[in-house]
Amino acid sequence: MPRRFFLGASLLVAVFSVCSSAWAAKNVILMIADGGGYNQWLAASLYQGRVGRQVYDQPGWVHWSACTYPLNLFFRPTGNRQQLPFLVYSPAKAWDATVQETSGRFAGYVYLTTTYTDSAAAATALATGRKTYNHAINWSNEGHPFLGQTIAEIAKARGKSVGVITSVPWSHATPAGLGGAHNISRNHYSEIAREMLGATWLDVLMGAGNPDFDDNGKPLAANEPHDYKYVGGQETWTALKSGKLPWKLIEKKSEFEALAAGPTPAKVVGTAQVGSTLQEKRGRTGTHAPCEPFIDPKNANVPSLATMARAAINCLDDNPKGFYLMIEGGAVDWANHANEPDRLIEEQIDFVQAIEAVAAWIESHGGWDQTLLILTADHESGLLWGPDSNEVAFQPLKDRGPGRLPGLRYNSHGHANSLVPVYARGPGRQRFAAFARDKDEKAAAQWGVSGQYLDNTNIFQVMRAEVDADQ
Ligand SMILES: [Zn+2]
Repeated sequence: MPRRFFLGASLLVAVFSVCSSAWAAKNVILMIADGGGYNQWLAASLYQGRVGRQVYDQPGWVHWSACTYPLNLFFRPTGNRQQLPFLVYSPAKAWDATVQETSGRFAGYVYLTTTYTDSAAAATALATGRKTYNHAINWSNEGHPFLGQTIAEIAKARGKSVGVITSVPWSHATPAGLGGAHNISRNHYSEIAREMLGATWLDVLMGAGNPDFDDNGKPLAANEPHDYKYVGGQETWTALKSGKLPWKLIEKKSEFEALAAGPTPAKVVGTAQVGSTLQEKRGRTGTHAPCEPFIDPKNANVPSLATMARAAINCLDDNPKGFYLMIEGGAVDWANHANEPDRLIEEQIDFVQAIEAVAAWIESHGGWDQTLLILTADHESGLLWGPDSNEVAFQPLKDRGPGRLPGLRYNSHGHANSLVPVYARGPGRQRFAAFARDKDEKAAAQWGVSGQYLDNTNIFQVMRAEVDADQ
């Protein structure tokens, strides 16, 4: 081989490896606003007076949409791999503004609120790239667990550290799915929690669901009922508290804050001193109009999602091979189900502040060449539209200025099959373009986006490609 050719070839290899490593994310962070459709994100931005000026609106971000439908609408395996044929996102059906004779409702509203994913099937799609039945936690419709096939397990197999954190119990559907648990049903909280605590691939778990506290962060008396299901049952909780499991249990707000800097234990399970959610389910003072956010005093003894995110990252970032972390604004969905706009605004802003904390960490730790950050939702819930959207189909939210609740109206207490946002920055963000095959013109017009959408399983494919490329 002539020497010149050989040199040229080595140079090419060198250039190629530089290029390929620039495409490989050392760290992958997936942030999910549970139930956060476009209008939930927009409502918070309107309240903040920051429409078009959020972190994810900055240069360097790519914007796509995703459809989220599941394999089928049953709550148990039905034994085949077939997608129910009508479970396909159809822009024509989604935006149909004709009034149905039978229901008296807009046909699009009926379509969107009849066929939708739950958080478990969506989490499985995001975690494994596989569609399944509603309620499945990384479990196939043929009745098998997707063992070793979740992004959490794959990331760990590649040497990365792994964590999941949320504003709801850490054994809830989204953290369970994205944390690589496997269960035939999301409702088996104790089993799921025990699998997560026994999982070799998990290093950080954080959320609510503390059995010793109520939804206002008040300690429960010994004679009051304690619900241990979210932490794996009473025996498991006792074992955790007495240090018999290979986890460092933290509960106090100050412990979360302390973890955000300095040395960290190997495996940390943070169970904030509160019941089902960090803030969303706290009581109301009853002295104000029901719809103004930030009036009821917050639970003072629990961390924000941003604090949790800083703590989790500080625990995970010691690994030279990087980490995978899922951060869920889980209580966004709870506010939607309850049709509580004030709490929606609070929860989505808590999520946005967590995004800001993560972006700030990325910028001070290797920058956007090292970490892929993906923001999305697992589905919409509440079918949130403008204040008269029961009479005006798809009426936009009404801006009432910063610090004021935008004009809005919930049109459902359940989930909707609407497109959800997908924002990404960092290595691998280019990979999304290959998956965006369809376009929703009405979504583009309504939300000022391209309208091009991909499938939620594609988010797994991008994360997997990045984790595999970083070798
Ligand atoms: Zn939900």
